[in-house]
Amino acid sequence: MTKESVIKLDMFINHKDVSTGKYFEVRDPGRYSEVVGLVATGSAANVNDAVCAAHAAFQSWKNVPLNERVERLLAAAAELDKLSAELAVTLVREQGMLLRETTRDVGNGIKSLREVATLAESFMQTEEFEDEESVVRVEKVPRGVVAAIVPWNAPMGLTMGKVGPALVTGNTLVIKPSPFAPLATSQALKTIAAFFPPGVINIIHGEGEVGPALTRHPLVRKISFTGGTTTGKAVMAAAAESVKSITLELGGNDPAIILDDAVPSDVVPELIKGIFPRSGQVCYAVKRVYVPAGMLDTFFETLCEAVDQFKVGYGLDERATLAPLNNRNQYDFVKGLIERAKQSGATVRELGKKLDVANWNNGYYVSPTVVKDVAPSAELVLTEQFGPVIPLIPYESEEQVLQMANSTEYGLASSIWGRDVDRAFRLSSRIEAGVTFINSHARTALGERHMPFGGVKQSGIGRVRTTVGLAEYIEYHAISLNKKACRP
Ligand code: NAD
Repeated sequence: MTKESVIKLDMFINHKDVSTGKYFEVRDPGRYSEVVGLVATGSAANVNDAVCAAHAAFQSWKNVPLNERVERLLAAAAELDKLSAELAVTLVREQGMLLRETTRDVGNGIKSLREVATLAESFMQTEEFEDEESVVRVEKVPRGVVAAIVPWNAPMGLTMGKVGPALVTGNTLVIKPSPFAPLATSQALKTIAAFFPPGVINIIHGEGEVGPALTRHPLVRKISFTGGTTTGKAVMAAAAESVKSITLELGGNDPAIILDDAVPSDVVPELIKGIFPRSGQVCYAVKRVYVPAGMLDTFFETLCEAVDQFKVGYGLDERATLAPLNNRNQYDFVKGLIERAKQSGATVRELGKKLDVANWNNGYYVSPTVVKDVAPSAELVLTEQFGPVIPLIPYESEEQVLQMANSTEYGLASSIWGRDVDRAFRLSSRIEAGVTFINSHARTALGERHMPFGGVKQSGIGRVRTTVGLAEYIEYHAISLNKKACRP
């Protein structure tokens, strides 16, 4: 990559680019020797400026009529559409995913802006009740400054999934993208910001003091955080200091339960769509598969055969069907899990075809890996691997598999696979998770419109999507009139 094509990015506060003079590098996860971007490193003072700008803008933005907020959001979505191809390529180069995956991420982000615009009109209506004695109104009012903190794994969809609901309900925003994928998201946000008054959308960058300065700031009234459970706990503690509203979308360790009436060759093609997208770096990817003991060997061989078809390569290589991991920590962690599984005596098959062997060590490439003969309590089973390695665990009975499925601190999504649909529904109700899929591990079109998404236990607090997700961004203001006193 030439020096000229390196994207240089400042922070964005009150419609102005702000630099601290210090920049951190963003490197291509698939061609690590290439610097893709230089991003301004923020400080606590920058955070304060951004929050104050958002707070000042809130005083008038909250009074802008809903139909105007909706119109601005729709116009911003239309502008983003024009940039989507360019954004998808930038995202491959900073984040590492396949082009078709980044294209979907960008598309999901734009779609979510439009969806929320449609939902808001009826959702924001004031409810009114009346009897002989009184009139009661329940208004939905914005909270104020929203801090939106985003991870690297699906940055565009996750960012827009916060921007749309926050703005349409009348809040203002300070957004902190992940340092591992800040470029495309920030370009998209600056494009959108032009459709809103100064201070409504602000962007800050950096690690260290930046996150805590944002989550502790007394003028921030709501934190919408997506990321790991450990960081989520720190965010929750910071929010407690000034009793902020929080939505936490945290880690997951989704179980897939294969029932004994399932046919491996039917299940596997669909199951791998739930395991390997974005090389397993999906919060609700299948992360452990429970298989009836008598079916384990057949299922293992069928799965290995399918996984061996993956072609691992660079995200912009059209032949590639599995991309590298995003960053060094993630790479070391996943490689360590595979190594320790081998040392424990598990059967470990590292599969797939390497497309560009000469470049293999110039990126975070990991072969898709299937593991069996692993204990139900093994590290690979109980932690969130966030990579293309999947353990198969045998079980003997429904009670045993439910106990194992519910045995982690996580509870994001889950899936049940079998031909007896009534049995699958019955077992679904006993899984500790925010979401359960039957015979897939992904939302259908109907699910996109109607499924609130989020986790139980340490997978999070609150929900996103649908009107349930919109409600996270408002306060209810209940007003009561006594009709009998002070009549006009
Ligand atoms: P992370 O927790 O390391 O970082 C997330 C964001 O928090 C980044 O922007 C980071 O800079 C910021 N941050 C770090 N320390 C902070 C602090 N003390 N205060 C405030 N902000 C801070 O997560 P990650 O590695 O970027 O993302 C991967 C994790 O995200 C996985 O665990 C995945 O399951 C989870 N995730 C969950 C969902 C969901 O919907 N539940 C969706 C996507 C990703």
